[in-house]
Amino acid sequence: MITPSDFFLSSSQQRLFALGLPVLMYHKVAQPPARTLDPFLYHSPERFASQLAELRQAGFTSGTLADVERANGNVSKKIVITFDDGCENVFRNALEILARHQFSAIQFLVSDFLGRRNEWDVAKGDVSERLMDASQIKEWLAAGHEIGSHTATHPNLRKVGPDQLREEISGSRKSLEDAFGISIRHFCYPFGSWNPAVRDAVEAAGYSTACTTQSGVNTQATPRFALHRITPLSGGEWLAKAAHRIRRKLSGG
Ligand SMILES: [Zn+2]
Repeated sequence: MITPSDFFLSSSQQRLFALGLPVLMYHKVAQPPARTLDPFLYHSPERFASQLAELRQAGFTSGTLADVERANGNVSKKIVITFDDGCENVFRNALEILARHQFSAIQFLVSDFLGRRNEWDVAKGDVSERLMDASQIKEWLAAGHEIGSHTATHPNLRKVGPDQLREEISGSRKSLEDAFGISIRHFCYPFGSWNPAVRDAVEAAGYSTACTTQSGVNTQATPRFALHRITPLSGGEWLAKAAHRIRRKLSGG
């Protein structure tokens, strides 16, 4: 049952969404597994659907990252939906929900890991998830959605040398363009980690935008290679997330 605190679009959120283009940052659409380190990176299909229904009811329609060029306040009430990592559960659970509510989305893929697993999370002790393979990505595109690059191997880009930096940023773009025959225009920094050298490499590689994990909406003043995103949680969910973090710390997790 949804209590008022579960509503995603609080009045303060609605005021924020009127100031610029909101880019929502989703990861997984599935019930969170018991052992996951961060259950708040999972939206159950019911929760995802209820958020899209709220957005629809409030008059928001689907935008793309290209709309950021024209983000003048948010008079046209656009919203951009992004997914990081390319998890198969998004393909399995979110496609029908997106279609039902007439939203499109962009999936940021890790180009060396198509059809494999999220080894970068597993290395930290998190749950293993299957990632979309090439044929699923083709279906995703055929359904009217977009893809972007989230590097080749999901490293922290501030910690790699110049050769690997080039491979992660330019190499992943070329590999996705070759595999799917479309232009890849949008990039997303793994772990939200970047610095001026990383940003310059993304721009030099020919991308149009790059998404961070910094919170906020986007205006014409927002740097194109440091776009802000909104974590789609209600006030109640933010409190639950903070409590979860404290419990993990206390138990030494
Ligand atoms: Zn990621």
